Amino acid sequence: MSVYVVGHKSPDTDSVTAAIAYAELMKAKGEDYIPCMQGKANPETITVLDRFGVAMPENMTDAAGKQVALVDHSDLAQAPDNLSDGEVVAIVDHHKIGDVTTNNPIFFCAMPVGCTGTVLKVLYDLEGIAIQPQIAGIMLAAILSDTVNFKSPTCTDADKKAVAELKSIAGVDDTDSLFMDMLKAKSAVEGVPPMDLLDRDYKDFDMKGKKVGVGQLELATLDQVASMRDDLYKAMEEKKAGGRHSVLLMLTDVVKEGTDLMVVSDDPAMIEGAFNAKLDGNSMWIDGMMSRKKQTVPNLQKAFGC
Ligand code: MG
Ligand code: MG
Ligand code: MG
Repeated sequence: MSVYVVGHKSPDTDSVTAAIAYAELMKAKGEDYIPCMQGKANPETITVLDRFGVAMPENMTDAAGKQVALVDHSDLAQAPDNLSDGEVVAIVDHHKIGDVTTNNPIFFCAMPVGCTGTVLKVLYDLEGIAIQPQIAGIMLAAILSDTVNFKSPTCTDADKKAVAELKSIAGVDDTDSLFMDMLKAKSAVEGVPPMDLLDRDYKDFDMKGKKVGVGQLELATLDQVASMRDDLYKAMEEKKAGGRHSVLLMLTDVVKEGTDLMVVSDDPAMIEGAFNAKLDGNSMWIDGMMSRKKQTVPNLQKAFGC
């Protein structure tokens, strides 16, 4: 029986490339693993797969009757639909442990590092399996993406070490220029419908029984979205109307290293309190905020009493 390897909903580069790299690792061990993704690849991921000549994985959003391996998440809200009618056989991740449970012992490997690509590099090394150059290239790109070119507080020495080793396998000399090419692709917003922008890198979280959505757009400058703010706000209101307590959108300025946080909430004062900042209109600038996982979500969890 094939095992479908899949990252989270609203797939980012790591969740697509990790599915490919983990499937390759298992195939090298003689197992039948198929890389998949939940929904459309984002522009950054398309650029990365093109650049290294790697095929786009197939779509898979329903786990009923399937064996699946989850990468880059272990939260039910981010997993394929009907997971309880399928069987999770492995999880490889770098986030907090989520709420996926299993009936049988499984392979579970999570490390507090900046990217699933880094965890996979460790697994390849443990197994003594050589990484194909094009796979090394996409793993490297994922680490640059998730760690925002090493600037994110989620970045660890293990991520830097993995990049140093992967770049020589992949034959990439200049990781900064690779990162800038990825940033250009990922921050292209012109002509993109507002809801698509909100969904581009979006996750729902359960906060003490309340549904809270957090999206993030990484930008070279906030000017890129200046003319779209009203439309983005409308998209956030629409998303919130689907049974959410709050919807936040992180407009992250990768160069200035901070985030303008747009907020739609039943309780805006609570969100202000979570970040010790004051809303100016419908957003607030938070200096140094780069990471949803390490900064935004933990502060929200504290405020919600999780
Ligand atoms: Mg991810
Ligand atoms: Mg990741
Ligand atoms: Mg990310």
